[in-house]
Amino acid sequence: MNHPNAQQTISRPVSCSGIGVHSGKQVNLTLHPAPLNHGIKFRRIDLPDYPVVAARFNKVVDTSLATVIGDDGFIVSTIEHLMAAFAGLGIDNALVDVDSHEMPIMDGSAGPFAEMLMTAGIECQDGPRCFFIINKPIELEEDGKFVGIYPSDDFRVSCTITFDHPLIQTQTLSTVITPDYFLKEIACARTFGFLHEVELMKKYGLGQGGTLDNAVVIDHERVLNEGGLRFQDEFVRHKLLDCIGDFSLLGLPIRGHIVAKRSGHGFHHTFLEKFFLEKNSWQTCTLNGTFHKDTAGHLKQLAN
Ligand SMILES: [Zn+2]
Repeated sequence: MNHPNAQQTISRPVSCSGIGVHSGKQVNLTLHPAPLNHGIKFRRIDLPDYPVVAARFNKVVDTSLATVIGDDGFIVSTIEHLMAAFAGLGIDNALVDVDSHEMPIMDGSAGPFAEMLMTAGIECQDGPRCFFIINKPIELEEDGKFVGIYPSDDFRVSCTITFDHPLIQTQTLSTVITPDYFLKEIACARTFGFLHEVELMKKYGLGQGGTLDNAVVIDHERVLNEGGLRFQDEFVRHKLLDCIGDFSLLGLPIRGHIVAKRSGHGFHHTFLEKFFLEKNSWQTCTLNGTFHKDTAGHLKQLAN
């Protein structure tokens, strides 16, 4: 189904609706095919002139509760799970129309988005895919949090989470991410929260759309959701999903090994800024090492 050397988009538009987890607002979403070297962009169709913002780390404006991008006075919030679905399935180019400032949370995972993309169909485009190829390690460590990226012939992610909670404790998952693996093992892992945090967020007017239908909620000792967990280690699988979504904001797929320990959206973002400055540690090129004339244009765009 996948041709790693060619860029990919979806075959036809596909839509869904849902609610924003923080705003509680109904939102409609349509994913459109997009041309070569377009990347992933979000368009607010509820605002005058339909402003567009690229899903890139230099457009990130907030990471406190979710990944928020924005430009010239408008934002699109909670993009990380849809971004993980695009990256996990290897879709390079798409335009996302949204009629609110916050993306729908769906079931708290990337599963519904991945299903939408599969329903639309994935199409190879007539142009080579360019990758970030890691030549030298880049690492960042702060307050017990750690992110590193290392040379590798595939796209591998290793994630460790540690929570002082009997259901979680320390969970580690290290895996090569292929579209099949992403679909079966990662996409459906839901976001999670602790009951006391959920109550606190609601008190401050956040998480208004949050229910047991769109997050795993745990109290001191058990999962409150009726069907329990989807995977025994659903928590670390979701962290891995968030990691894939956040790193996709580099704008090109990665040939390298990401290692993340006790990290989150904010720390991933700090790492991406450091990554982009360390230009001697990576290069951008196609897998056979050649540059397409349009790819050169794309790289120029990335540098801006
Ligand atoms: Zn998440």
